[in-house]
Amino acid sequence: MPLIALMGNPNSGKTAIFNLLTGMNQKVSNYPGITVEQRKGTALLSKNNHVEIMDMPGTYSLTPESLDEKIVAQQTLKWLNGVDKPSVIISVVDAGNLSRNLYLTSQVMELGIPVIIALNMMDRVKGKNQEVDSKKLQELLGVHAIVPMSAREKWGIDELQSELLNVLSKASIEISPQIQMEIPKEIEKIITPISEYLHNKCDHDNYITNVQALRIITRKSAMDLYSECENLNSAEITSLTLLRDKVAQEIDELGLNHRILEATLRFEMLDNA
Ligand code: GDP
Ligand code: MG
Repeated sequence: MPLIALMGNPNSGKTAIFNLLTGMNQKVSNYPGITVEQRKGTALLSKNNHVEIMDMPGTYSLTPESLDEKIVAQQTLKWLNGVDKPSVIISVVDAGNLSRNLYLTSQVMELGIPVIIALNMMDRVKGKNQEVDSKKLQELLGVHAIVPMSAREKWGIDELQSELLNVLSKASIEISPQIQMEIPKEIEKIITPISEYLHNKCDHDNYITNVQALRIITRKSAMDLYSECENLNSAEITSLTLLRDKVAQEIDELGLNHRILEATLRFEMLDNA
């Protein structure tokens, strides 16, 4: 059964959409060893077309700060290694808080998995007489589709299902994000040893190695995820940690702050768009 992951900020309506898609066919358990709930369920998209849906914990970013974010970041790192990779990600976005929500969406778009944006809470936006040009936004971002909807008023869910079917029916699907962070040459030069390390040891592709390099420079917690991942042994973790600390210092010596490195470049990208 194809797997579909629901991702989004806390309170964007992931669970409401999960409930609409799966109805009574749900299973709630805990993530191993912790009390965070893991919800999975099955949805019938069309006759004989069952999919498994996973409702992920809410997160603002793939840089782990909270426990929920750590779970999600850990999961996405596994996907980068091809483990339990979903066929489609539904990025649930609160239409009333579009720009804040797109931070995570832009990170999710870098995972090499087709993305459909569920532009939820449109009832509120409509109530305030605001407009969102979803077609234009879709082209601007380069996601597979954007589906305006309201989980509360229960509309848009049919369109979401048909976009899911559309992705799943294709033998191969082009994933072509239209936005990418521009990494200044001087920064790229400094982070290259980390990118190359990740490229060689973890088999990530080129752009994502740069993204992951920025992320582990920004937060030690992002670095620590690699030690729980199976592709680096403890000696490799130690050398990557030393490399990371050295590069973080070099970033600071440039007059930048390594703790906001990824956020700075990502907000620049989103502002330009
Ligand atoms: P999650 O944290 O992303 O799982 O969000 P929930 O599904 O728990 O929803 C958070 C809150 O937003 C709940 O009170 C929902 O009833 C409400 N909600 C979800 N979808 C919509 C929507 O489309 N419109 C409105 N107005 N409220 C919604
Ligand atoms: Mg929820």
